Amino acid sequence: MQKIAIIGAGVTGLTLGRLLKDDFEVTLLEKETEVGGIARTRNINDCAYHIVGGHCLNSKNKTIMDFIFNEILPKDQWHHVQRNAKIFFNDHLISYPIEFAIKEIAQFDKLLAFNMTQDFLSSKEKPVRNLKDWFMQKFGATLAKEYFIPYNSKIWGMNPEDMDYVWVQDKLPIPNKADFFTALIDDNKDTMPHSTFYYPNSNNQNTFIEALGLGLNVVKNFTVSAIKKNKASWTINHSDEYDMVISTMPLNLTPFLLADTPQNILQHAKKLKFNKVSNMLWDTKPVDDTWRYYPSTDTIFHRHIHIGNFFKPVKTRTITESIGVHSYAEMVQAGRKFDYLLKPLDYNVSEHAYVVYDENHQHSSKAVKDYLNSINLHSVGRFGEWEYYNMDICMQSAMNLAKKIKSRQG
Ligand SMILES: Cc1cc2nc3c(=O)[nH]c(=O)nc-3n(C[C@H](O)[C@H](O)[C@H](O)COP(=O)(O)OP(=O)(O)OC[C@H]3O[C@@H](n4cnc5c(N)ncnc54)[C@H](O)[C@@H]3O)c2cc1C
Repeated sequence: MQKIAIIGAGVTGLTLGRLLKDDFEVTLLEKETEVGGIARTRNINDCAYHIVGGHCLNSKNKTIMDFIFNEILPKDQWHHVQRNAKIFFNDHLISYPIEFAIKEIAQFDKLLAFNMTQDFLSSKEKPVRNLKDWFMQKFGATLAKEYFIPYNSKIWGMNPEDMDYVWVQDKLPIPNKADFFTALIDDNKDTMPHSTFYYPNSNNQNTFIEALGLGLNVVKNFTVSAIKKNKASWTINHSDEYDMVISTMPLNLTPFLLADTPQNILQHAKKLKFNKVSNMLWDTKPVDDTWRYYPSTDTIFHRHIHIGNFFKPVKTRTITESIGVHSYAEMVQAGRKFDYLLKPLDYNVSEHAYVVYDENHQHSSKAVKDYLNSINLHSVGRFGEWEYYNMDICMQSAMNLAKKIKSRQG
């Protein structure tokens, strides 16, 4: 049997392992003491703390949902949660998505609601150069300037004018003019894709992650620090030999582990930008919504995930998320502004959390991926492909690669 090394036991690596293990001798090499990567949780006072940020599962992709429910964790072991997301906008709590909450905005600022409506309905398709243009074109100037541009400047840590817009089309619900009008005359009904999601009945996402990794050979606490390509095999960390290597580790680091990577590829790898995220888990007063967005620069938090409302029965727990590195003391201080955040319970600063789509993203990520392809090193997953993928897309990408590898073998 051919030997395959998979670097990283996050959602992508575990899915690949699962799909390849019957046909190959598969070893997953994971630097952490636990599997799950960005999606893993830590148990704090009997509560799943999503250390990189709150996660929920949903997908438009039926193949993925069928795979999860039929092969990983049966549907009856999940509960279905209605999204009830809010935005703290101009000192008022309004419904998400904002473009369906114009009626709510009119209750405290009629002129602003009128301008948002007028601009949305008169916006026209135009050539788009950057993310700012894209928001102006899709949502009209007022919604773009009042909400989308400030919120996105905050979560990306850069001006949307300096960002590419290629990622956003699949990420944001884009209403058409008829839907916008319907929301104006009806009550806001959040029926967009992802308006509901699944969470495991165990009230811990790790149940899903562990089910995904069932029966796999994972070597934990193993940091891959050197990858060498031989004539017909690969050597990892100067000792273990494999017939094939699949990497799910960040694309900006992989070229530096390989001997003989050309200088221009190393330069491209250095240009790949990403953001970290700082998180704090809190005990809270009861709240109704599933999460809240904070576009204003008045607070360092961009989102409060009321993770306790993902659970059945619900718990009073919230995760506050802030882009970049913030100290424990800074997060506690920022939490004092919110009367429902009672007591900090845990804190974490991530490594790679968000790919940044700046001007170099497309060109430099392509150059690195093309190079890795040319030496037959597969790089896959959110940071392996350097794309803004959710778990379902990572799983789809893993499925595509597993199919390709199996068909070559056959
Ligand atoms: C704040 C936040 C919220 C999110 N919310 C959602 C959500 O609600 N729903 C959803 O579907 N998706 C969500 N996502 C996206 C989701 O987390 C990712 O798509 C998915 O977890 C990525 O999996 P991956 O295996 O590709 O990468 P990773 O999880 O990054 O896995 C890579 C693995 O490689 C390991 N590794 C790295 N370097 C080495 C090395 N040198 N040697 C050995 N091992 C190494 C890492 O430790 C890690 O375990 C969210 C992401 C973030 C950041």
